[in-house]
Amino acid sequence: MAPTTGQERRPGAGGSGVAVGGAAWFMLYLLVAVTPLMIAVLADPPPGRDLWTEISVGLGFVGLSMLGLQFAVVSRFSAVNAPFGLDAVLQYHREISYVAMAFVLAHPVIIFVRRPEMLEVLNVVEADWQARFGVLSVAALLALVATSVWRRPLRLRYEVWRVLHGILATVVVIAALLHIEQVGYYVDGPWKRTLWAVMSLAFVALLANVYLIQPLRIRRRPWRVTSVTPANGSAWTVELSPVGHDGIRFVPGQFAWLTFGRSPFAVREHPFSIASSAEEPGSVQFAISEAGDFTSRIGELEPGTRAYLDGPYGVFSYERQEGPRFVFVAGGIGIAPVLSMLRTLADRGDSRPCLLLLGNPSLEAAPYRQEVEELGDRLDLTVVHVLDDPPQGWEGETGFIDGDVLDRHLGEGFERARYFLCGPVPMTDAVQAALAERGVPTDHVNLELFELV
Ligand SMILES: Cc1cc2nc3c(=O)[nH]c(=O)nc-3n(C[C@H](O)[C@H](O)[C@H](O)COP(=O)(O)OP(=O)(O)OC[C@H]3O[C@@H](n4cnc5c(N)ncnc54)[C@H](O)[C@@H]3O)c2cc1C
Repeated sequence: MAPTTGQERRPGAGGSGVAVGGAAWFMLYLLVAVTPLMIAVLADPPPGRDLWTEISVGLGFVGLSMLGLQFAVVSRFSAVNAPFGLDAVLQYHREISYVAMAFVLAHPVIIFVRRPEMLEVLNVVEADWQARFGVLSVAALLALVATSVWRRPLRLRYEVWRVLHGILATVVVIAALLHIEQVGYYVDGPWKRTLWAVMSLAFVALLANVYLIQPLRIRRRPWRVTSVTPANGSAWTVELSPVGHDGIRFVPGQFAWLTFGRSPFAVREHPFSIASSAEEPGSVQFAISEAGDFTSRIGELEPGTRAYLDGPYGVFSYERQEGPRFVFVAGGIGIAPVLSMLRTLADRGDSRPCLLLLGNPSLEAAPYRQEVEELGDRLDLTVVHVLDDPPQGWEGETGFIDGDVLDRHLGEGFERARYFLCGPVPMTDAVQAALAERGVPTDHVNLELFELV
């Protein structure tokens, strides 16, 4: 496979470049977000409209633009994700949607407050099409946010939610564009029309990219399951080999979205960290723990099953954070990206000291315990098991990984070490807080969360 095409830029490929890339993307985002507002400002004010109506229209335009940009934010564009990391980008996607919603809602709210007679447009049976499209767009937006915020209380399965999310998002944007088109004030005149047409086409192109182009790109690079083997702690090692291409270039610690046995257009794609060494890109291994309906059937996968892999993504890698020594803190299957980093360090003959704190209920439940201990022969690696349900006679660490455990094992010069935490949120929160209390700079601490939604 070509080393860079379609991939995120290598983490660690230059801190200032990354910062500049991030700032440039953010400026572009702001520019696109306010472009419709500029179109509106430059337009001749329609007759008989007061300033508040104009303000409300401007806010609505910015909100819509931000919503359209959400398709770019979630498009998994390598160049956009590289400076921030996909998880940070998705976090931004979640949080900025509240801001966009506030802008969009401000549009009808201001109009209704200033001109209560306009409330009539809510009667969609009798209202005209411009009002119907406006109401449809806002209703779809409210449903979109509600189903995302309350997905669990509403008992929406992830896959169902994801399809619904895509449909609602498309309805929000298309209905809003039709609403603007029907109102027509701001899209008259050749250059305003052209500008607006370009914006609308860009939104549609982003939609096509998410639902069509990316799956087609993934389809060109199929994989095959070569083995599925059980590991400790209800985990499975799934190995994939490339079919008709030369595999994937990744940095240790990154993850990919996996789809098995179906077309890449399937909605059942799940993110998993690559657990194998980056020095062996020809075949990749994933360490998958049984969690729900998809993962609990991983053990039933037959060798030979077709697979599709979208990635690599993520910035959780020691390559992004070179330091004199490394401290890895993993809980349960959080060992997966750490395993990839340790295997890569070993394959590269790296002699820097590594400390691995592993939190599990018991040694038997600790996934990849054996593999980790064997890596000690090839690395300057200290492994500390912290068991919350230890067997009788266990003399090691017990309970959860906390400040006291850190104090006993971090050793001299711990402030200069680089930290990589992956595991249950209470564990990563506690360790993060304890490290901050001990004066470890926050930019030395890297986090991978297995919860995206
Ligand atoms: C960056 C990242 C790396 C990960 N790496 C690993 C790994 O190496 N090994 C491992 O065992 N697990 C990993 N996970 C977690 C794994 O993706 C989920 O456990 C799995 O998708 C759950 O699917 P399920 O249907 O079996 O469980 P469910 O019970 O359906 O889901 C449990 C929870 O997982 C999340 N989830 C479910 N489906 C998806 C999906 N398609 N995409 C995103 N999140 C979803 C939801 O929050 C859901 O509530 C990773 C997650 C992320 C975000």
